Amino acid sequence: MSPSKVALTHDGGHTTYGELADRVNRLAAELRRRGVDQGDRVAYLGPNHPAAVETFFAAGLIGAVYLPLNIRLSRPELDYIIADARPSVILEPSGEELPEAEPIDEPVTLDDLCLIMYTSGTTGRPKGAMLTHANLTWNVYNHLIDIDLRSDDVTLVTAPLFHIAALAQSYLPTMIKGGRAVIMPAFDADRVLELIEHERVTSMFGVPAMYTFIAQSARWPAADLSSLRLLECGGAPVPEPLIHTYQERGLTFLQGYGMTEAAPGVLYLPPQESVRKAGTAGVPAFFTDVRLDGGEILVQGPNVFAGYWGVDEPATEDGWFRSGDAAVQDEEGFYRVVDRIKDMIISGGENIYPAEVESALLTHPGIVDCAVVGVPDDRWGEVGKAFVVSTEPVDVLAHLDGRLARYKIPKYVEFVTALPRTASGKILRRELK
Ligand code: AMP
Ligand code: MG
Repeated sequence: MSPSKVALTHDGGHTTYGELADRVNRLAAELRRRGVDQGDRVAYLGPNHPAAVETFFAAGLIGAVYLPLNIRLSRPELDYIIADARPSVILEPSGEELPEAEPIDEPVTLDDLCLIMYTSGTTGRPKGAMLTHANLTWNVYNHLIDIDLRSDDVTLVTAPLFHIAALAQSYLPTMIKGGRAVIMPAFDADRVLELIEHERVTSMFGVPAMYTFIAQSARWPAADLSSLRLLECGGAPVPEPLIHTYQERGLTFLQGYGMTEAAPGVLYLPPQESVRKAGTAGVPAFFTDVRLDGGEILVQGPNVFAGYWGVDEPATEDGWFRSGDAAVQDEEGFYRVVDRIKDMIISGGENIYPAEVESALLTHPGIVDCAVVGVPDDRWGEVGKAFVVSTEPVDVLAHLDGRLARYKIPKYVEFVTALPRTASGKILRRELK
């Protein structure tokens, strides 16, 4: 690709591929000057910024391991990860002077570790998922086969780059095709719509909560969305009403399913099926196998990770990774991800998936956000409790009557002003409990 082509847009400025390559080579020289060896961890602690991807590429070039740190974590949470991963250096976007580039001769193979990413951990301690260069490469191939990115695509990187989806579902596939990435320092719904218009954005990845906020922005009704070709959404259950909100604007809105441990893409909805199969997460990625075991999604393939950092027990059985997520498959082979198995509520012996109840709640125009959790009940073992964020008084139970089986209707409803979420958009159910 041409070195003069724009690779990155950030804060109104552009970086060409040639400039990016030069900065990466110089940063690699700087890392070596600081004594970073092959296999050493190189952390990046900062917002979305060109420095994040420069650190990623520079570490990879010298065979070091990129360790993106989540800036929204508390000090003790960060300390835990730093003590666990023991990075040799921690870089921040400082605009420091970089030395001249030097020839790099480190032999780096596809099986070497490329990055360690700590999974968001809605339960327990975060674990460092180890991804190899091969894992990320195969994920990019999987993505390009199903998503059809082009060299003239412009992706808006709005999710945090310290999560795998922004890096591997938005940034890397676009870069490999020679497209342009518009990097936002932090998510802001109004700003997303401004940038889509101003930069003529063609694609983006977002978690469902981001798409919800965008559609609630005051700019949304009048926004010029004509440049958008593909919207990818995943990382948490995607409510069907949200999909329709985007499809009614004539947009191709694709649900995908994945996890850090799979680098991350596992299921893709082909764009040509986005309307007919709305609500499903599609079919397995081209080079990846999926099967259901007692309703649980198992994943195998060259994108499946090398295990958790510092954990001896194998993370896969015969190469199969247990996702902990439940799904059902329709007669044409498309998967519908129903929920985390452990979030499932068992009420009087019946299984209730919170995501299904939440999706039904969100069909009410006055309900803007909600979460359902199980609470102990003497009679039924567990019953559902709904936390609802609404813009007007809503008769929640009347709304669900007839939409859901009786046993799925929450026994309790509490109105709240906001829901606790992780940085990757997952509801923190244990806090609600
Ligand atoms: P993470 O552990 O942060 O890598 O996030 C992966 C998890 O996000 C998966 O195990 C699922 O629980 C959830 N997830 C990702 N995509 C979807 C989807 N389309 N529908 C429901 N849950 C999803
Ligand atoms: Mg996980």
